[in-house]
This record gives sequence, structure tokens and C-alpha cells, in this order.
Amino acid sequence: MRKFLLSVVLLAALAGLAFGQPAGWNDAAPPFKIMDNMYYVGSKELASFLFVTPQGDILMNSGYEATVPVIKASVEKLGFKMSDVKIFIAGHAHPDHVEGDALMKELTGAQVVVGRVDADKTREFRPGGKEHPIDRLVDENDTVSLGGTTLTAHLMPGHTRGCLAWSTTLKEDGKSYYTFVECSLNGQFLQVLDNYPGMIDDFRATYKKARTFPVEVWVSSHASFFNMAAKYEKLQKRGPGDPNPFIDPEGYKAHVDQYEKSFEAAVAGGGRGGAGGGRGRGAGPAPGR
Ligand SMILES: [Zn+2]
Repeated sequence: MRKFLLSVVLLAALAGLAFGQPAGWNDAAPPFKIMDNMYYVGSKELASFLFVTPQGDILMNSGYEATVPVIKASVEKLGFKMSDVKIFIAGHAHPDHVEGDALMKELTGAQVVVGRVDADKTREFRPGGKEHPIDRLVDENDTVSLGGTTLTAHLMPGHTRGCLAWSTTLKEDGKSYYTFVECSLNGQFLQVLDNYPGMIDDFRATYKKARTFPVEVWVSSHASFFNMAAKYEKLQKRGPGDPNPFIDPEGYKAHVDQYEKSFEAAVAGGGRGGAGGGRGRGAGPAPGR
């Protein structure tokens, strides 16, 4: 009976991962400049970023297919064009980050960049039977460059086997900032992740590696991971001389600590979720994201 119940719970969790679009995640968020040529163009929870260059733009993360129109509206609200997106960098191989990739390719005609290790999983997302586009595969330390902007790939496995973070440099008021687009360090809902051999070791190595980057400005695949709403509010109220709230090295370190802790709690609890073992939505980031 217990085994049966566990199976039911597991099936429900998997169904949620495959089809669930948690309420509010696709709601529109105001698009804005984070710093320099980097803009937030995602929804309220699913983060997408636009790097604008004189030779065309780089876009990261499509979200669900239903997120794509939200991103398009944000890009246009900022005065940019989808047709100027020349390179599209896919997010990690979960539906809330890559389901919209085919539609994004259709809208932009951009070169689609996918991490090699996540590529097979990424290809499995075929909304409406559409083939997942992949034009270039990238590995650890590979770079994507356009019009003076260079992004460097960093393999951060665990949340997915090929989770890729990206680093670049942004400038503001004559200073340069090491900028980190985090992948996902979320291991608190272990049971809905791909339990591939070595996943636990990968997670632990990734938390260590996460602390080796000289992060100053940082964001991640979910707005809630980097407290976007609060930082956006601060940015709106920013006066002359006030620091840019996205410069947040301490917040980054605290984020790594927090997610390492919740991951270890999940491991200690037999992989059945974080504190309390519950997997209900509303208690922090949703499962598997
Ligand atoms: Zn995910």
C-alpha cells in the first residue's frame, strides 16, 4: 500500500513537471535594464535576458511556449525587435525553460545554442510535435560572442545533468562588474529531478564550484531565486549615487548557502523534498524547476 501511494505521489510529481504551469509564472513583468546592455525580458517568475549589441541581440531562455508572447511583448516594449535577435541561448532542460524554444526560433530566426550535456534531454521537448531546434552545441568554457558582448559557459550539473551558467562583464559608471547568469542550484525537490548516476556528487561539486566565481552582478533562471521583485523596486527608486541593486555579491553567496542547505536536507530526508518532506507549491520554488 505504501509503495502504491509513493507511486501515485511520484506520478503526480512527474505530471506536474511535464505539464504543470504554476499559476502566475507566465504573468507579465515590467521589462527593464539591469545594467549596461543587459535587460530583463522574462515573465514574473521565468527569467529571460536580452543583451543588446550593435550587431544584433542575444536572448537567453524561452520559458514555456506560453511564455514566449510575454517575452516578445517585453522586448518590443523596450523598443527592440525580435528580428534583431541573432543568437538564442537555451536554458536548462526543463519545460519551464526550453518548451518555448521552437517558437522562439520561429519568431527570431536566431542561431539556437544548447549545452551539449543537456542536448538529448532538450530534444525531448516537442510542443505540438515541433522539433526542438539546435544550431550550435557548447561545452564548458565555450564562448558566445556578438557585437562586443561575450558570454562564457560554465557547466553546473545537478539540477540537470548539463545545467549551464553564463558569465560576462557589464559596465556602469566607469566600472566593470563580473556578471553571472546562474543556471539553477535547486536540489530541494530531488524526487522530481532526473536521478542520473552521480547526481548527488554533481550537486555537491557544483555548490563548491559556485563559490569560485568572483560574482558581483547575478541573476538566475527564476526571478524568485535572485529576489528580482525587490531589486526592481529598488532600481525604480534609485537616486544619483545609489548603488545598482543587482550588484549583490553577498546575496549570491547567501543564495548558494541556502540552496546547498536545502539540497542536503533533501538528501538526508531520503530525497523526498525539503523541510517537512512536502512538495506542495507555495513553499518556495516549485518542484523540479
Ligand atoms: Zn529546472
